[in-house]
Order: sequence, then C-alpha cells, then structure tokens
Amino acid sequence: MSSVINPTGKMMVDLMLCGGTAITVDSERRVIRDMGIAIIGENIVFVGKKDQMLQEYQSSKSIDCTDKVIIPGFVNAHIHYSHHMSKGMMPDTLGPAVQSRYTHYNISPHLTVDHEVWGSKALLIEMLRGGTTTFLESGSYHPIEVLEGGIEEIGIKGLMGRRAFDRASLGHSSLMETTSEILQKQQQLLDKYGKRKNIKTCVTIVGMQRYTDELAMEAKKMADSYGVVMTMHESAWNDTVNESRVRNNCRPIEHLERLGVLGSNLVLVHMLYINQTEVKILAKHNTKVVTCPSTGLKLGYAFQFARFPEMLEAGIPVALGSDSSDCSNYHDMIRILNLEATIYKGLRLDPEIMGAERAIEMATINGAKALGLEHEIGSLEVGKKADIAIFETNRFEWRPMYSEIQALVHSATGDSCETVIINGKVIVDNKRVLTVDEDEILRKLRTLEKDMLSRTGLTVASPWKFI
Ligand SMILES: [Zn+2]
Repeated sequence: MSSVINPTGKMMVDLMLCGGTAITVDSERRVIRDMGIAIIGENIVFVGKKDQMLQEYQSSKSIDCTDKVIIPGFVNAHIHYSHHMSKGMMPDTLGPAVQSRYTHYNISPHLTVDHEVWGSKALLIEMLRGGTTTFLESGSYHPIEVLEGGIEEIGIKGLMGRRAFDRASLGHSSLMETTSEILQKQQQLLDKYGKRKNIKTCVTIVGMQRYTDELAMEAKKMADSYGVVMTMHESAWNDTVNESRVRNNCRPIEHLERLGVLGSNLVLVHMLYINQTEVKILAKHNTKVVTCPSTGLKLGYAFQFARFPEMLEAGIPVALGSDSSDCSNYHDMIRILNLEATIYKGLRLDPEIMGAERAIEMATINGAKALGLEHEIGSLEVGKKADIAIFETNRFEWRPMYSEIQALVHSATGDSCETVIINGKVIVDNKRVLTVDEDEILRKLRTLEKDMLSRTGLTVASPWKFI
C-alpha cells in the first residue's frame, strides 16, 4: 500500500464509495448511513461518514452509492464444483441418503473434465453475481484441471480440494480410493496450488463415516503442517451417527475428539444430529461448523433437532453454505440467510431465537472465521481487504424500506446485487462479471446439458407430462 498527500492536504486513494448505507459487521456492528469507504490498493483505509471521508481523502475514481446498501462480500462456506452440471437433474422427492446414492452412482461416474471445469466457472459466476466474494469448496473429482482451467482469473477468492473417501458407509462405495492414494494426491495439490493468489487448495475429505481413522488423522496432520483448513461433512443423517455408535462406541464428534482431529482449522458441515455434549466439545476445540439450510430443507434434513442456535450461544462461529447445486439448486446467499433467519422461529416456537442481524453475521464474519480469514475479510473495517458487495435498493422488492438490515434479509434477493469489489478491484459492474465472457459460458452450459443427459441416460421424473 502506498499513500500520497495532494496539495490540499488530502490523501489520494484509488477508489472511493460515496453515499448509501454500509452494514459494516465491524466490532461495533455499525450501520452507517450516507457512508464513505476509501480504498488504496487491495485494502480499506477509511469506513465512516461520507462528509468526513471527503474532507480527508481524494480520488480520481469513485462510485456513487446513493440508494444502495453496501456490505462485506458474503462467504459461502460450503459448495461443490462437481455437482454443478447436475443442478435440477433429479426429482426433488428423494430425501438425504437416497439423493446422495442417486447422485454418486448415476451421475458422478459419468462426469468429465469439461463438466467440472465449465460447471465450476458457472457456479463461481452465479455466486459472484449474488455478492459472494469468498468460498470453501469441498472437493472435486478433477481439481487440477479445474485449477488450471481459468477459475483463478475470475477474481473470486476461495479454498478448494479433492473429493476423497476410503471407507464404505451405508453401502456407499462409488469411486472409493485407498488411504495412501488419497493422501498422496492431497499433498500434491497442496504443494502445487497451496499458495495461489485467489483460489488455493486445502484438505478435503467426504466425512460422514466414509473415512478410516487413519485417513481422518493423517489428513488433519497434513492440514496442520501446511497451515490450511480441513473440511468434511458430518452428522447430516442419524444413520451415520448410529453407525459411529456401533463402530466406535461413541458419537461422531466424540470419536473425532479421541482421534485428535478436532481443532480451529477443522470445518464440519451439516452437523444436524449433534447433542449438547458434542456442542461443548466443539466449542472447547474451537472447531468450525457450517449449516446449509437450502440444501437441508430440500432434502428433508431434520432441522427440528439442529442445535445451531445453541452452538452460536456456545461461541461457535457457525457459518452458512449452499452445498451442491443438485441439492440446493441455488447459491444466492440472501435467500440462504433468509432461511437461516427464519427457520428456527417456528420449529422452536421462539421468534427471538434467530433474526436478520445474526444471519448476516453467519454469512460474513462467521464465514471468514470458518476459513481462518477473519483478520482479512468478513467485515468492512480499516486494514481489511476491500471485498465488498453493493445492492441497488431502488427496486420494488426493497421498497418501502425502513431498515436496510430487514430489507436485505427479508425482502431482497441476490438479483439486486449490482457491483462486487474484490481486493479493491471491481469484478462485477452493473450485474456483469467483467473477467469472463458470460455468454460463452452460458452457451457451453447448454451444450453440456445435452452431454450430461446422453452420458447418464437419465430423465427427470415428474408426475406431470412434458409434451
Ligand atoms: Zn456437501
């Protein structure tokens, strides 16, 4: 970062955002109306009132944010590249374990490099256009080809890995590998792509009892030695919890604690069948948790048993994810945080249990904590990266507007996101991603749709007739 003082005594900055309302999610949770944000290089150097900013800073480039809401870019803490091309390819009546089996036996074996490379681009663009600036991907089948296929140039930031499991669970063994093969390939990925600028590799295993003790322990050791995040699914279905009780004589989180796998760099996803003892264990080890309400509700996960409010109460920074495109079908974080803000009110008969502010925290600063990046992203604060999403409010779904927070969470969708800035650079301008040819990618998707249908031989069952 370099700073220059001009003859009027003002500091020259690279970009200023002027006007509108900033929901900062800073340590004081300030919501600043008629706000100003000044950026030098990749970093925020001022967040406050516009008038004060204009007295102290000057720039040749500014964005008028009048009638806009400005937030820290969303963190989507759980996605999968590999299932983007199967979005909408199965009926919405399968339920959790059946859906997983359907996908991994009928679709995964037919996925090609092209499906993952173009699917990953489409997924990241969909997320960017809704205001997401950082993600955690949970492991693809062709990670090297995806990493080399142009995603780095898009500008969105994230962590990603390789899909891997070494133990059959509930009869599921499609594309299973040996422990040593998984660890060797994982290490290669970390060595080659662990230090990229935008999209880096981390340690990913499937989880959900599809792991041997050796894999869980060695993967965690690898994550520790490389100083990276490790992520896995856990306790999404009661069947896998019972499998652990039979296999290990204890519940999954208790077993992971005994193995020494819990820790601040472990991100556990879904986590619906967790008892209060496990909540305490997770908090003790500062282990991170991600909930995926859009996927869970569509698949019929048992949110009535979920303890995310209790986890938040215990100090666990629960983050939000969308999960696979064939589960969630969308990656609009506003729709997802709206679900999170509302779902427990009726289930617990307690309208105060969650709400808009808490959901925004989960989608921003908690996501940053899950990825170990809370010192860089997750809030609009001086010294953090300028990762910012700007929403237009002069739209019918936003108006009338009396609280920008209520409107963002309960009225808006990601379609009102107009501008996205990452590392101080405008990546989305007037709803178009500047770093890619969106039309080319859409054309490619339409070709690949036909390819997916012919390779898998699937048709999407419906009680209605397509003519
Ligand atoms: Zn997942």
